[in-house]
Amino acid sequence: MGLFSRRKRIDVESDILVVGGGMAGCGATYESRYWGRDLKVVCVEKANIERSGAVAQGLYAINCYMGMQWNENQPEDFVKYASNDLMGLVREDLAYDIGRHVDSTVHKFEEWGLPIMKDPETGRYQREGKWQIMIHGESYKPIVAEAARKAATDVYNRIMVTHLLMDKKNPNRAAGAVGFNVRTGDFYVFKAKAVIVAAGGASHIFKPRSVGEGMGRTWYAPWSSASAYGLPIQVGAKMTQMENRIVLTRFKDGYGPVGAYFLHLGTYTQNAYGDEYESRWYDNTKELVGDYIDRHPVPTCLRNHALLKEVANGGGPIRMVTKEAFQDPHKETVGWENFLGMTIGQAVVWASQNIDPKEINPELTTSEPYVMGSHATCSGAWASGPEDYAPPEYRWGYNRMMTVNGLFGAGDASGGTPHKFSSGSFTEGRIAGKAAVNYMNDMGEDTQIDEAEISRIEAEIYQPLDNYQVGRNEIVGGTVSPSYILPLHALQRLEKLMDEYCGGISVNYMTNEPLLTRGLELMDMLKEDAEHIGAEDYHQLQRTWEFKHRLLASESVMHHTLFRKETRWPGYYYRGDHMQLNDEDWHCFTLSQYDAESGKWTMEKAPVYHIVE
Ligand SMILES: Cc1cc2nc3c(=O)[nH]c(=O)nc-3n(C[C@H](O)[C@H](O)[C@H](O)COP(=O)(O)OP(=O)(O)OC[C@H]3O[C@@H](n4cnc5c(N)ncnc54)[C@H](O)[C@@H]3O)c2cc1C
Repeated sequence: MGLFSRRKRIDVESDILVVGGGMAGCGATYESRYWGRDLKVVCVEKANIERSGAVAQGLYAINCYMGMQWNENQPEDFVKYASNDLMGLVREDLAYDIGRHVDSTVHKFEEWGLPIMKDPETGRYQREGKWQIMIHGESYKPIVAEAARKAATDVYNRIMVTHLLMDKKNPNRAAGAVGFNVRTGDFYVFKAKAVIVAAGGASHIFKPRSVGEGMGRTWYAPWSSASAYGLPIQVGAKMTQMENRIVLTRFKDGYGPVGAYFLHLGTYTQNAYGDEYESRWYDNTKELVGDYIDRHPVPTCLRNHALLKEVANGGGPIRMVTKEAFQDPHKETVGWENFLGMTIGQAVVWASQNIDPKEINPELTTSEPYVMGSHATCSGAWASGPEDYAPPEYRWGYNRMMTVNGLFGAGDASGGTPHKFSSGSFTEGRIAGKAAVNYMNDMGEDTQIDEAEISRIEAEIYQPLDNYQVGRNEIVGGTVSPSYILPLHALQRLEKLMDEYCGGISVNYMTNEPLLTRGLELMDMLKEDAEHIGAEDYHQLQRTWEFKHRLLASESVMHHTLFRKETRWPGYYYRGDHMQLNDEDWHCFTLSQYDAESGKWTMEKAPVYHIVE
């Protein structure tokens, strides 16, 4: 401590503490204020909420809008769609809850100034697809953040939350969180009566296709570092469906999105020889998953599966046929603008590779896997459901409360509910915010934090700085010390391990029990070495804690993948020793719980209730 004694400790009192100021965190902050006019609502964000989160650079579509005012879709349709896409395994109570509230969220966005495109003939929102509406999205996050800023008592930017705090008297009740300022290093202690975790999903837990200096260009934002999972796992919250990682078909090298191309421009795919290939793999897919291949729309993972089979069979590269659509100047403009708004890197890649989509059909490929609970997959915390709709087994407390009392989750943090996207995540934040205020009011009693525990955690947080200070004396050149590893080295070792043993790109998404068992052994060794990470400065200290959250989330993914003895989502990953989908034994949710004291994981199954007719 002597080395860094100028570091300050700052204590913050709050009623509701929101960890993460992305889409869900802003929704939680906004709604907590609505229901708790006199409460202290504090939002903590590791970046700056103005432009933070997965899609802070902007979007061109809001991907979850029912359009109930025009009878376009009903919440029941949304539940059926999400369940179909996830091969039957969705928390229907939670999905229904999103569906029935999401339109009101989008209407608020418009009221706050978000420009939403209109269909000139009908006057309705311009649809890109059945669930998507088109927006001018450059200002999306600042508009949403403004609502949160005005609602919050305080927003603390640049604070990386590393640990949650538990109540001194009641060890299964959340009582706050601690972290540090990534610029000054100051230590922050947030005391709270209820905590909402909305800290985003996990990129960079599997080795990415982009390596070396291109490593920052992955599909999912590199700063989404698994805190939404690492934080609740640490304190023993049950997690669900962590094996349900997402793999995306995207434009090669730039990870540019394909949704608008398929839906709005009407482009389609073909193999290297100009042939349609998906139907060629119909029988093969049917053997693996049975009737799920006949569902409409075809589940996303199964479309990936056809692409992977075609490439493995020598039919690659797969191309998006853009040459026809791009002859229409309007479609050409939309095609380029689609990237300029959110994935400008794809336009740059095409320019650098002499690809004009009017002349050349660009290549597609599949991404490395990511873990996120708000996109087309549903990893996250096992959360209590809405009181009017959840079956008793899904309801042990307040809406969106995890299995830890007073700890709530929303967006990527909350499991079992895919296809929420930006609007659904904000909506889920609102739902969690309202429930957290009710919880807090009902509890009455204040929480107490344990000073001894805080001192222990503080020492643990800053230890990597000391490791570096001491260990650097042993290096004579370069960056290699016999006494520490750097955060980047640890991250790359994790990515390689997950890639090779848990079904990443270099093994064509294939894994099995022996691989996973060995992977877990290697992970134990990595965990030992992670105690010796050396951080040169506060930036590297942040990288260290991001890595630690990624490590815990990855361990959870490994255990879940090992537990589910079937291949439920071919195209996302394969269990080579159980290649078939097995509805008889595995039409269920997988749940895990980590015990920090023993370091052991407990796995169990939970039933899937189909409650929407
Ligand atoms: C590439 C991409 C494209 C997408 N396109 C669309 C689209 O077109 N339309 C659409 O509707 N949705 C889209 N989505 C989905 C949408 O972005 C997510 O569903 C949504 O952002 C999830 O909200 P969230 O709050 O859970 O996570 P985020 O919005 O990612 O917010 C998490 C926040 O937590 C902060 N944080 C993380 N760790 C910590 C920590 N330890 N301490 C403090 N703060 C922390 C982060 O900085 C961030 O601000 C896309 C997502 C991606 C990745």
